[in-house]
Amino acid sequence: MRSFFILLVVLMAGSTASFAADHGVILAYHHVADDTPPSTSISPAQFRRHLEYLRDNGFTVIGLDTLISSLRSGRQLPDRAVVISFDDGYISIYEQAFPMLQAFDYPFSLFLSTQPIDAGQRNYMSWQQIRELSDAGVVIGNHMIDHPYMLEGKQGESDRQRLQRLRQELLQAEQTILEETGQSHRYLAYPYGEYDAPIKAMLSELGFVGLAQNSGAVSSHSDFQALPRFPLGSIYANLDTAKIKFDALAFDVVQIAPLSPVTADRSPDVTLKFAPGNYDRAQLACFANSKPIPMNWLDMDAGLVELLPTEQYRGRRWRYICTAPELDSRRFFWYSVQWIKLGD
Ligand SMILES: [Zn+2]
Repeated sequence: MRSFFILLVVLMAGSTASFAADHGVILAYHHVADDTPPSTSISPAQFRRHLEYLRDNGFTVIGLDTLISSLRSGRQLPDRAVVISFDDGYISIYEQAFPMLQAFDYPFSLFLSTQPIDAGQRNYMSWQQIRELSDAGVVIGNHMIDHPYMLEGKQGESDRQRLQRLRQELLQAEQTILEETGQSHRYLAYPYGEYDAPIKAMLSELGFVGLAQNSGAVSSHSDFQALPRFPLGSIYANLDTAKIKFDALAFDVVQIAPLSPVTADRSPDVTLKFAPGNYDRAQLACFANSKPIPMNWLDMDAGLVELLPTEQYRGRRWRYICTAPELDSRRFFWYSVQWIKLGD
C-alpha cells in the first residue's frame, strides 16, 4: 500500500511537470482580411482555422501580460501556451478578428502606432473602437507614434540625437495610449522588427519589454528586450507550417556573437552557444531562406557552434533559423538570428 502511494506521488509529480512549462509562443498578425496587402495579411477564413486548431489541439491562449509576468517571476505556464498579437491597429482587427476571438474567448494584444489613429487614417481603428477592445480585456501595447525605422537617423542627426528622439517618441506614444485606454504596460513591438543594442539598452533602462518579428519560442531565458514572435501573415499563414510554430519550444541560447543584428556583411558568420535541453545537438540544423547554413561545431559538448554561410543574402532584413526536434516528440526547438543591413 505504501509503495503504491509513493508510486502515485511519483506519477503525479511526473504529470505535473509535463503540463507546466516555462515557455510559450507569441504569434504576430497584421491584417485579417482578403483585400489588404498580401505580405501582411491572413484571410478571415484562414485565421479562423488557426483558432480552431489551437482550440482542438490542447493549446491554451493566454494574455501577453500573463506570459511576460509568469516568465519573469518563475510562475509556471500551461504547456502549449500561445499569445496572439496584432501590430499597427488595422480596422480588420476590429471587424474580423475581434468577433472571432470573442467567440473563442481568447485574449489578445494590439500594438499601436498612435499617429495614424490620431489622424483618423483609413484602414485603421478609431480610439473609440480601441477603447471597446481595451474594455473587453485586450492588452494595448506600444508601436511608436509614426512607425519609424528606428535604426535610421534623420539628416544631420547624430546617433545620440536619434536615440533621444526615439526615447521621446516611445514615451509620448505610451502616454497617448494611457490617456486613450488607461493602459500602460511598457511593451514595445519594434516597427519592422528593427532594433540594435543601444535601442535595447534604452528600453531596458525605461523598463520596457521589446518584441521583435523574428521567429522563435520564448522562455524565462529569452532576451526580454527582443522577444521573438512568429509572423503568421502571407506565406506563413499556411496551417501546415503554422502548427509547427504554435508547438515550438525555446532553445536556451546563452551566448551569441556578434550581439547586434545590424551588419554591413551580406553573409555574416555568427557564433551561438546552446545550453543543454531535451534534444540531440547532432540534430541541430540552421537555415536561411529554407536552405541549410554550413555549421562548424567548435565544441559540441559545450553547445558552441558557428554558422558559416556561403550565400549573399538580399534585402534589408533576413534571418537564420535554427531548429532541433525534441527527443521522443514531434515538437521542435526553434531560435532565429535577426540581421539588418542599413541603407537598403
Ligand atoms: Zn508595424
